[in-house]
Amino acid sequence: MTEGEALSGGVGGAGALEPLLRTVLDALAEGARRRAGPIPARTPGELAAELDRVASESAGGWLGVLTAALAYGSADPADPLCAAHLHCPPLAVAVAADLAVSALNPSLDSWDQAPAATVLETSLLAELARLVGYGTSAAGVLTSGGTESNLMGLMLARDLVLGRASGERIELSGLPGGGPRPRVFASEAAHFSTRRAAALLGLGEDAVVAVPVDRELRMDAGALAAALRESAGRGERPVAVVATAGTTDTGAIDPLRECAEPAAEYGAWLHVDAAYGGGALLSDRLAPLLDGIALADSVSLDWHKLGWQPAAAGVFLVRRAETYASLARRAVYLNPADDEEAGYPSLLGYSLRTTRRADAFKIAVTLRTLGRAGLGRLVDACHDLARYAAAGVRAHPRLELHAEPVLTAFLFRYATADPARSDAVNAALRRRLLREGTAVVGRTELPEGLAGEPGAGPGRVRLKLTLLNPHTTTSDLDRLLRAVAAAGEAEESGP
Ligand SMILES: *Cc1c(COP(=O)(O)O)cnc(C)c1O
Repeated sequence: MTEGEALSGGVGGAGALEPLLRTVLDALAEGARRRAGPIPARTPGELAAELDRVASESAGGWLGVLTAALAYGSADPADPLCAAHLHCPPLAVAVAADLAVSALNPSLDSWDQAPAATVLETSLLAELARLVGYGTSAAGVLTSGGTESNLMGLMLARDLVLGRASGERIELSGLPGGGPRPRVFASEAAHFSTRRAAALLGLGEDAVVAVPVDRELRMDAGALAAALRESAGRGERPVAVVATAGTTDTGAIDPLRECAEPAAEYGAWLHVDAAYGGGALLSDRLAPLLDGIALADSVSLDWHKLGWQPAAAGVFLVRRAETYASLARRAVYLNPADDEEAGYPSLLGYSLRTTRRADAFKIAVTLRTLGRAGLGRLVDACHDLARYAAAGVRAHPRLELHAEPVLTAFLFRYATADPARSDAVNAALRRRLLREGTAVVGRTELPEGLAGEPGAGPGRVRLKLTLLNPHTTTSDLDRLLRAVAAAGEAEESGP
């Protein structure tokens, strides 16, 4: 047996892994040293050519060679100046726990592939349901992330609401022909996966009604109530209201109680997309912002955002386990009824997937290690950093803040002397920072309705900082803002 043929499990697995892990760890350190910053100072073409060269010039030792190349060529969220996306630096303890999962490879589609992992996922979900404020009749599953969780929420909504109205089982009969048009309500700032889910579910993206937002990108609850009323008046069927607890760009939290009320009044399912803002539940300071989340029929949480887990660590929860009915499946080779009667549980019926990794394990280890209080301190540290950076933007003569951070992210821009050049200069300065390997800063656009706000001049492009590294210092943030302003000046004075 060659080294490459050794297996990771069994009594000998640990011994086979040990020298390989040494190689990986050395290569990670070497790659990070060579990069010396948040991202390699290369254009996409230069990086591709460099990686090609590594592949063609190396004679062996591929694990080390390619790991060093991957580390060198990564955007590293552990670098304080890598602050664009909801792309967190994972905790070392979570990554070590995940290595155990990779080595053992449990699969949660049947008990006989994952005995302990099945138990641990079930108890983790009960703990997370309590964190949300759900009672003991809650149920859930680990997902690939907010995208899959949002799809599941809307799927259960479709099956329940349209099934109740038509008397059919939608998962069997498909969408009812004729009848009232199904509609989904989400804010203009809701994640695009809501629309995609509507498309996948046969409702069509056009079924999603975009409810206006205020300046902070929070859903206007009055506008939601009006949209539901008008829709019902047109004889349509409101299937679901998707409230966002922590929008991707600004961390804005829709008024959850005020969304729950009209949703219930019109018989619509309430799904709360807390993929980002769910992390606030860990913090005593921020948890009150999510007041009302327990009224939701279903919730999306992402522990690979404000939870410091390596991807994927998505969580989907429903308030009442019986609303899961349309997803339940009996596969004779995975969860035969006699096994279940004999006390062998199966999680198959909770997931859209069949083979499924034990992503709950790293979260369980992290929660035991740090506790809610320890994780809450990390959330608060990132919130403090966001407020410090926003204050720095406000105080800077060439930077302009869009709105105060709610969670750990905010929008701003470099103020060009010629307002007509604002969008072009802000877009270009971000690419300059990438090319120079100086910083990874986000870039987005304000919803159409918010462009040209009073006193702000034209232009929708905004830069974004998303602070997810609790070990970042205030002097790192000073350096980051100086780099942004300098890149803006360079672009503005350029051709
Ligand atoms: C990130 C995010 C998503 C998508 O989640 P993935 O984990 O990337 O699939 C959905 N909704 C919101 C609000 C998000 O921030």
